[in-house]
Order: sequence, then structure tokens, then C-alpha cells
Amino acid sequence: MIEIEHLTKRYGDTIVVDDVSFQVKEGTVTAIVGTSGAGKSTLLRMINRLVEPTSGRVLIDGEDTRSIPEDQLRHRIGYVIQGYGLFPHRNVAANIATVPRLLGWDRKRIAARVSELLELFQLDPVEFSTKFPHELSGGEQQRVGVARALAARPALLLMDEPFGALDAVIRAKAQDELLAIQRRLGTTILLVTHDMNEAFHLGDRIAVMDEARLVQHAAPAELLMRPADPFVEQLVGTAERPFRLLALTKVRDALEPGSAEGEPITLSDTLHDALSQLMWTGRDALPVADASGALVGRVSVSGILDHGRRFA
Ligand code: ADP
Repeated sequence: MIEIEHLTKRYGDTIVVDDVSFQVKEGTVTAIVGTSGAGKSTLLRMINRLVEPTSGRVLIDGEDTRSIPEDQLRHRIGYVIQGYGLFPHRNVAANIATVPRLLGWDRKRIAARVSELLELFQLDPVEFSTKFPHELSGGEQQRVGVARALAARPALLLMDEPFGALDAVIRAKAQDELLAIQRRLGTTILLVTHDMNEAFHLGDRIAVMDEARLVQHAAPAELLMRPADPFVEQLVGTAERPFRLLALTKVRDALEPGSAEGEPITLSDTLHDALSQLMWTGRDALPVADASGALVGRVSVSGILDHGRRFA
């Protein structure tokens, strides 16, 4: 668990992060959102001490980060920035191996870890290990950047606008891939983004920053239902609210008895997915299957709309 306690950063007379406290549960994703200049990146960099806090502290599993030598801290905390920061004169394998090498892992262990990570990110190890960053597409560089950050199995991964340079289609794929890998490895992630869709898609919790202060730290649904102030309300978007809520609600929550024609949707899909499929196919109900593929009921347009109205 990560505990952020009264973190404050001043530059001269300017407070850029003002008394921010919140906790991050192990294995969760927290998205930090807010307008440009709100202090998001500074907050993130105080966690791995790239920026030294003026006051306040960060505890990782109860241990004050100030008591951990900086180099050790950087090995325990992965860091990914926009632009990926890959070393241009090192090939992909050497880039990913950076921290394991510093930690003195033996060659065999490093080689195995590099292959494992490349496979995890769906990059063929034989093809990609010896490529150099300039030979990769933006999406591939981004994956190598994340793979490198995960190489030594850090307890915590900090990501600052990691998908900022990707176009919309690749960005959506990269987000899904990150989420799948995060769920599989159980990595705790703190991610800065200015994209509310990204925050809602990835965040188990969302931390909203405005003018150096943390104005709300809550689950996405809570943020939509009970925004702390007009700033948050505007940020989450009044018009998008029903759609965002549908995207946070699973088909299992609007399951009806009975059957329907067509391609089934699964219990763990969202009502947003179901509504898209209903609109796309022009049907008014879809069959619902469980994880094993067995049909368990149906979901209908009117059922989804009823569900949506409860949020209104
Ligand atoms: P965000 O990530 O939300 O866009 P930042 O944390 O990058 O915000 O910056 C917050 C504020 O702190 C900005 O006004 C920025 O100009 C200022 N700032 C950041 N780093 C420094 C620095 N090293 N010296 C002085 N001011 C800084």
C-alpha cells in the first residue's frame, strides 16, 4: 500500500502541490487528473523522489521513502513518461534489461525476463530484441517503455501521460493491454492523464487535482454521482455522465430472465458495450452468456435505460 501524507511542494513563494494526502491500495490503478499546471506531475515525481517534497511524506508498505536510498527506490518504483525515454543507442533487449543489470541479475535470468516481457507485450522476442528504438513505431516504443519499467517487478509503477503521443486507435489498444497486464501481475499503478476517458477506463480510483490541491479522491462512479465541487462536476462532464455510468456498470447488474436472438454478450461486459451492440445490430435485446459460454438470460434496451434513469 502507498500512503501519501500531507505532500507539499513549493518553488519560492509558489505552492505547486498543497497538502495532498491519499492512500493507494495494492494492486489498484489510480488516475490523477486535472487541468494543466495543477501539480499532477510534481505530485508523481515526489513519490519516487525525482522531486524532493518541501514537506509531507510517502510510505510504501509502511516504510518512509526518505529512509530508502534513492537508487533502491528507483528500482522499486517503475517510471514511464510520455516519449518513453528509451535509450536510443541501446537495443530493445538492453533497454528492458537496464534495471535488472543494475541489480546484478545474471545473464540467463535477464534474458529470460526480457523474453517473458516481450511476449507479454506481444512483441516477438526474436524479431524485436535486437531492434533499436528508432526502428519501432510509436506504439511499439510505448510498449517497450512499459516493459522496461516492469522489468524488475516493481511494487509500484508511476506513469506520466504514458499514452499521450499515441493516436486514438493505438491508444485504446495500449490502454486495454496495460489493464490486462496490470490485472495479471497485480501491479499498483499511479497514472497522470489529462484524458477523462482514460481515467474512467483505467482508474479504480480517480484523484482530481485543481490549483495544487486534491479536490476529490474517489471511485469513478462516486465521482460521477457525487462530485465534490463544480470543478469536478465540469471535469467529469454532465453530458457524458450517463454514458460513463453505463461504462462502469456490468451486464450482470441489468440481467433479465429469458432469451433473445443474436450474438451473446457476457456478464462481465459493460452496459455501454451492450447498448453499443444493441444499437449496432438494431435489436432490442441480446442473449447473455456467462464466462463458460452458457446462456443465462437477456439484456434489453429498456432494461438498460431503466438502469440509466436510476443514475439521473
Ligand atoms: P501538471 O502536471 O498538472 O501539468 P506540474 O506538476 O507539471 O503540473 O506543474 C505544476 C506547476 O509547478 C506549474 O505551474 C509549473 O510551472 C510549476 N513547476 C514545475 N516544476 C517547477 C520547477 N522546477 N520550478 C518552478 N516551478 C515549477
